[in-house]
Amino acid sequence: MPKRILIVGGVAGGAACAARLRRLDERAEIVMFERGPYVSYANCGLPYYVGGVIRDQDRLLVVTPELWKKQFKVDVRTGHEVLVVDRSRGQVEVRELASGRLYRESYDALVLAPGAAPLRPPLPGVDLPGVFTLRTITDSSAMREWIETRRPRRAVVVGAGYLGLEMVENLAQRGILVRLLEKEPQVLPALDPEMAQPVLAQLESNRVDVRLEACLSAVEAAGDGLLVREASGRSFSADLVVLALGVKPEVALAREAGLEIGEAGGIRVDEQMRTSDPHIWAVGDAVEVRDWITGQWRLVALAGPASRQGRVAADAICGRPARFRGVQATAVCGVFGLTAAMTGATEKQLKSAGISDYAAVYVHPLHHAGYYPGARRIQMKLIFGTADGRLLGAQAVGEQGVEKRIDVIAMAIQKKATVFDLEDAELCYAPQYGSARDPVNLAGMAAANVLRGDMPLADWSALGKTDALLVDVRDPDEFAGDHIDGAVNIPLGELRERLEELPRDREIWLNCAIGQRAYYALRVLLQHGFRARNLSGGYLTYCGWNP
Ligand code: FAD
Repeated sequence: MPKRILIVGGVAGGAACAARLRRLDERAEIVMFERGPYVSYANCGLPYYVGGVIRDQDRLLVVTPELWKKQFKVDVRTGHEVLVVDRSRGQVEVRELASGRLYRESYDALVLAPGAAPLRPPLPGVDLPGVFTLRTITDSSAMREWIETRRPRRAVVVGAGYLGLEMVENLAQRGILVRLLEKEPQVLPALDPEMAQPVLAQLESNRVDVRLEACLSAVEAAGDGLLVREASGRSFSADLVVLALGVKPEVALAREAGLEIGEAGGIRVDEQMRTSDPHIWAVGDAVEVRDWITGQWRLVALAGPASRQGRVAADAICGRPARFRGVQATAVCGVFGLTAAMTGATEKQLKSAGISDYAAVYVHPLHHAGYYPGARRIQMKLIFGTADGRLLGAQAVGEQGVEKRIDVIAMAIQKKATVFDLEDAELCYAPQYGSARDPVNLAGMAAANVLRGDMPLADWSALGKTDALLVDVRDPDEFAGDHIDGAVNIPLGELRERLEELPRDREIWLNCAIGQRAYYALRVLLQHGFRARNLSGGYLTYCGWNP
């Protein structure tokens, strides 16, 4: 008997699963239910459709129901919502939304890929016309129509995560003045705060009015427009409001069916994406998965994991031994020409997971050889275990070559590599692409220097609370431009002649522009018997810590 496999949800995870199932089992009957009007569409492209960068809605439709039928022999039912999972009978109850007809379908295997719903907090006015969330093609068409018919001049975006920033850029692209509210004290809360600082600067230099620690409290109709109220009492006029507050996994169907829901609030699955019922699998934004670094259960709403999970579930249903290894939340976001990317754990996450045996280095190399025109600086942070040098996470911000470096480190983290592996990595180099010492190598070298004891680190967060002498080894004109309060200036070139000016009974913390000259100075001092440390990343990192 051919297997009968039903899939709930026809976008990233569901569609990936259906396609893989067909490739593995030519005889299976596969039915994919989707309550919306479209399947297999690129929801990651929606902000760019709103912004007009992607002009034609059809460009978002990756595979149509007709193609599903013709090429994959998958029965796709759009406009059909699965209402109930009846585990005792191995059936689902479905409503055809156009007619209201209810019917049942039996399954041998059921895959839940219902995704997540945008958060819309229960605040006054969040359902007013002109207040939008963005999840589906229908949402994006509604927002685009609003923009094209109403010609809004001012918008408020609430939430400065990846989606919020993409919306800011796309609204600005349409000539709309954008104000961004974020309840955290930083933009891009997925990053460590000092790494998010360049992103904030980029937003502000593009005329975005960023309000941090600003909590939405209400939206009101005001004449032709809207008034956005903040908990502090301030209010802002807007012609359009976008709520980009994150998502909540769609677990109602699973919960009502009695499937286990985990501690992070997602459907609990094993490594084969099997739920607590051996005939039911779940994938995508609706499930919680193990964090590759901390081992904690977490929700990660990203397309890559959803697609890979769909594939793993299909393999498992077909009896193959595939396993989902967990997530490291590798992600990237572009805003006004600046790219921010990360992989693995941040310091914030490690601290909240109670992990303390780690260190972090900052490097700020050029994205390709400095002598070749167009070199741009990348600000990088690498976090690693102090016991064994295992890579735990990396964050990078810059204009060029950022995601390439994070992708390399993401793969290294996946292979449980160490900082010594990064130091040794053999990567592409020609002047217009990189450097003989790629930024990835440099980050590895800096971290390896720490572990070998060649570069003791000073703690940025202890600055101002230490009695260490702060020595800035930049040239006098650089020092005169700006420097950390209390620092004395001894240029690197004069250091060896001026050693007698330095104390032997106090620690010396060294600083320069990006950390390189301070490292050279550190090696001089350590070999002359001083107690010295490096403020990793130099003044550029300081600007992140002290905006
Ligand atoms: P979805 O793709 O949301 O699909 C779930 C589908 O299930 C929905 O279409 C829903 O209608 C349907 N459904 C739910 N319940 C039922 C039911 N009972 N019956 C029938 N159908 C049902 N990720 C990235 O990695 N990079 C990005 O740049 C990025 N950008 C994004 C931009 C936007 C605007 C959005 C919304 C998401 C973005 N994401 C991005 C996240 C990524 O799209 C999601 O992680 C991914 O789509 C999750 O896949 P999924 O299959 O779990 O859920």
